Amino acid sequence: MYAMAAAVDREAGRLTDLDSAIGDADHGSNLQRGFAAVSAVLEKETPDTPGGVLTLAGRQLISTVGGASGPLYGTLLRRTGKELGDAGAVSRQELASALGTGVGAVAQLGGAQAGDKTMLDALLPAVDALGSSFHAAREAAGAGALATVPLQARKGRASYLGERSIGHQDPGATSAALLIGALAEVAA
Ligand code: ADP
Ligand code: MG
Repeated sequence: MYAMAAAVDREAGRLTDLDSAIGDADHGSNLQRGFAAVSAVLEKETPDTPGGVLTLAGRQLISTVGGASGPLYGTLLRRTGKELGDAGAVSRQELASALGTGVGAVAQLGGAQAGDKTMLDALLPAVDALGSSFHAAREAAGAGALATVPLQARKGRASYLGERSIGHQDPGATSAALLIGALAEVAA
């Protein structure tokens, strides 16, 4: 979570730039606020299981981020954490399976599917690839984010632009790739 917070800090300007093209220019600052709050709460109380950490982090994102991405990423972390339960250690396969459930909850909450030009376009391929390796998950998420450029947005604020959303990389898919990248870095 700390590596994710650092990555968000580093890339906040870029995320906000992407959101200014097809949204309301707040994605970077939304995530910065959210992940700063996550870091702060984890410094105060550190749950002793991976599932506990993710659940607490998810709850914190939901309560501190106003934009669509707060409840979506919050649900992702909370649902994944709940799925991991109180296991003291988690294998990559177990994480891949739990993350798959978490991503499913994001799809359900936001009503989006693959190809709608959202964070799911990075998260879905990342979960599939995580079955092979952390490195593969990171590559798949990055490729998924890049592949949102030619898509027309069908969910979220960018969908209001219709065809004008084409030709821009989705901010949420970009942040999802960044977060998966941070996970892969730490795991390596
Ligand atoms: P807001 O759109 O409320 O300003 P953010 O700018 O923080 O919130 O986040 C925008 C990102 O959220 C989009 O780029 C997209 O990836 C993601 N998003 C928006 N709506 C949905 C949805 N229904 N399902 C999945 N992801 C979504
Ligand atoms: Mg926005």
